[in-house]
Amino acid sequence: MPAASGVLYTRFMFDPPITTRNRARVCVIGGGGTGAALAYDLSLRGFSVTLLEKGELTSGTTGRHHGQLHSGARYAVGDRAIASECMEETLILRRIAPEAIEYNGGVFVAVDDDDADYAPVFVSACLEAGIPAREVPVSEARSWEPVINPAARRTVWVPDGAFDAFRMPMSFFAAARRLGAGIRSFTEAVAVDVVAGRAAAVIARPVSTGRDERIECDYVVSATGAWAGSVGRMAGFDAPITPAPGTMVAVRGRLSDMVLSRLSPPGDGDIIVPQRGLSIIGTTQRVVDDPDCVLPDDDDVEFLLKRADELAPGFSSRGVHAVWAAARPLAGRSSGDGRSLSRDFMVLDHAAPGAVPGSAGMATLIGGKATVLRAMAEKAADHVCEALGVGEPCRTREFVLPSWRDYYAEETR
Ligand SMILES: Cc1cc2nc3c(=O)[nH]c(=O)nc-3n(C[C@H](O)[C@H](O)[C@H](O)COP(=O)(O)OP(=O)(O)OC[C@H]3O[C@@H](n4cnc5c(N)ncnc54)[C@H](O)[C@@H]3O)c2cc1C
Repeated sequence: MPAASGVLYTRFMFDPPITTRNRARVCVIGGGGTGAALAYDLSLRGFSVTLLEKGELTSGTTGRHHGQLHSGARYAVGDRAIASECMEETLILRRIAPEAIEYNGGVFVAVDDDDADYAPVFVSACLEAGIPAREVPVSEARSWEPVINPAARRTVWVPDGAFDAFRMPMSFFAAARRLGAGIRSFTEAVAVDVVAGRAAAVIARPVSTGRDERIECDYVVSATGAWAGSVGRMAGFDAPITPAPGTMVAVRGRLSDMVLSRLSPPGDGDIIVPQRGLSIIGTTQRVVDDPDCVLPDDDDVEFLLKRADELAPGFSSRGVHAVWAAARPLAGRSSGDGRSLSRDFMVLDHAAPGAVPGSAGMATLIGGKATVLRAMAEKAADHVCEALGVGEPCRTREFVLPSWRDYYAEETR
């Protein structure tokens, strides 16, 4: 069937059987990748789902990230469990969302002596995490990607990839919508109505009317990423969230098809990701109180281009196409630059013992990364099932998602 753009694509039946329709209504706040995957997972388990997004879908951090499909290699030395989870989710996403992924692999490049010494530690940590990394001669890596620094000391192949920050979540939105979820963009959650100690409704304000609507629900999940602090406070919950912006610089020209990373402990400016006709170097990290309107620091561009040249000489001579920043939703509190915080995610029940003072019937999902959006949704949906006494298992591994284009096709039906 011709798509709106005139490009031909294959449309197939996405018609997973819903075993039980339960009557429970769940309101998901936040229309980034995490909210998209959660709306789909809950719909597949038979819940009646309404998702609220205050802006356009993916307009938070999701639509502005680097687009690296993490094999987990970057995290293998520091956190084996996160590395294994990334590897597992990469394999699942390659199966269920192939249209959003460019799976070309990645190369970690040792540029100096310290990097070269790190190689054996890195490779064995990857293997222990189940990531099939292997050292290859620099000449072989350069035969794949001639842009790699000819002075490189060592090179290691890993199963990294790139994905489209917009198309991946839109496929999850398309699937959720096909299963009956109400996806409401430009509709802000402005309050949570707590009745007898339990979240009973979300007050939603659509931009189009400006008039508040009451969305009755049996459970509320905040998937609002870096904004989880302000949404948690609507229900008296103090979510431990650290918004940590990072800058990216895109230059014109696709310098490599593979993801190129610095063979060293994770730091700033150490990854180049190809996206269509651009190459993107990222990123940096600092901490802010307010995730709205984060802008790149003045020094970021010069620093990032210098770092990119170390991996791929000549990167900085390309014309700069765009510079932007977005805030990571790091789970936990940090007074420093946030590097001490784990990249893991958390499902926080507002009524859990020790939580300060929250309400039953609501949870906050924070942390993680775009690569693990499906796993984050699975954990949160398991939590909702447990809280509401619903016995449906997760089935999001089983079905190939519809095209991202189908989200809009549904809209025009
Ligand atoms: C610089 C940078 C580079 C990154 N690179 C990568 C990468 O290469 N690979 C990777 O896997 N991960 C990467 N990440 C991490 C990844 O981007 C995030 O983990 C992920 O996008 C978070 O998605 P989310 O849906 O949880 O949050 P968001 O996408 O921020 O979604 C939350 C949404 O909630 C909405 N919202 C807030 N308040 C309200 C309200 N009151 N009512 C309704 N809606 C509301 C917001 O508008 C927003 O759209 C990167 C992050 C950064 C910052």
